[in-house]
Amino acid sequence: MAHVRDKHTHYESDADSSAGGEPVQDRLARPIRDLRISVTDKCNFRCPYCMPADRYGEGYPFLTRQDLLSFEEIVQLARAFARSGVRKLRLTGGEPLLRRDLSLLVEMLAGIDGIEDLALTTNGMLLKQHAVALRRAGLHRVTVSLDSLDDTAFAAMNGGRGSLGEVLDGIAAAAAAGLDPIKINVVVKRGVNDHTAAGLAEHFRGTGHIVRFIEYMDVGTLNDWRRTEVVPSAEVLGRIAEKFPVEPVDRDYPGEVAERYRYVDGAGEIGFISSVTAPFCGGCTRARLSADGKLFLCLFAKEGHDLRAPLREGADDGALEAVIRAIWGRRTDRYSEMRKNAGTTRGANQKVEMYHMGG
Ligand code: SF4
Repeated sequence: MAHVRDKHTHYESDADSSAGGEPVQDRLARPIRDLRISVTDKCNFRCPYCMPADRYGEGYPFLTRQDLLSFEEIVQLARAFARSGVRKLRLTGGEPLLRRDLSLLVEMLAGIDGIEDLALTTNGMLLKQHAVALRRAGLHRVTVSLDSLDDTAFAAMNGGRGSLGEVLDGIAAAAAAGLDPIKINVVVKRGVNDHTAAGLAEHFRGTGHIVRFIEYMDVGTLNDWRRTEVVPSAEVLGRIAEKFPVEPVDRDYPGEVAERYRYVDGAGEIGFISSVTAPFCGGCTRARLSADGKLFLCLFAKEGHDLRAPLREGADDGALEAVIRAIWGRRTDRYSEMRKNAGTTRGANQKVEMYHMGG
């Protein structure tokens, strides 16, 4: 019988302490399998579609040290998620590499029973400094957000922060450290960077890195999203295939978000994440944990479920597992499908900001 460390008895659990239970399924029979862990809400970029500079200026009150989950707290929650069925962890932010000593957290997470894959999503600006230490700590792979190789479009998509050269150096350092294959995520916005998409694909042909184009989405409430600014994946694919013929590749595993294609001439793979034109909610196995300990069941969620309170009140792994299983078990989220079917959805303007739940 596992017990709480203090007098609060309502968090007692009677489960043993290993990760092996059947993954909990939600109301649409989707098992929990992937957990995105945001380790900070801060970022060194100001991408207008996520954290516009006019709203998140100097002095913006980001989460305090006390608000943030400590590494030990993140690890305990990750253990409880693993007991609930999670097998893949992804560290995100804001910009995760802004969190000090991140490789220490990676090392702690790498030792969790049941976790098969440990990845990180970054804007690449600080990757060169951290790649070797992250790999040594047990990180398997990285995904780098890079929206253009054209300086003007790059700056337009990230709020004029950072440098292209440093991001490319980061990608090279990650590859050299063995954090590959590297996935490169490109948000495509009509009239801003779509004219540079095919060039970006061409640049990474033959490198082994996988470029994935993401349809511009109405995440959060601040990007003034318009459907007319969405470039359907089929259109981007057409532009690339004109010069470099491709053929479809089967998904790697159930719930994989990207539609995959490989170049017929063997120069590698590209992918498309088409939440607007081809939503994939039916296979969505992703949970999100914010840096202040809230569980979000969808990228477009209006609210989160507080796990930090029971954790700080002394709940043990079994008790936290029970809370997670109960929350996920009631899940019915499928925002993108509803957006597609209805053209818009109720409460679309109350969504939690993407940077807060880790994208
Ligand atoms: S919209 Fe929500 S439910 Fe659908 S795929 Fe995205 S995160 Fe999953």
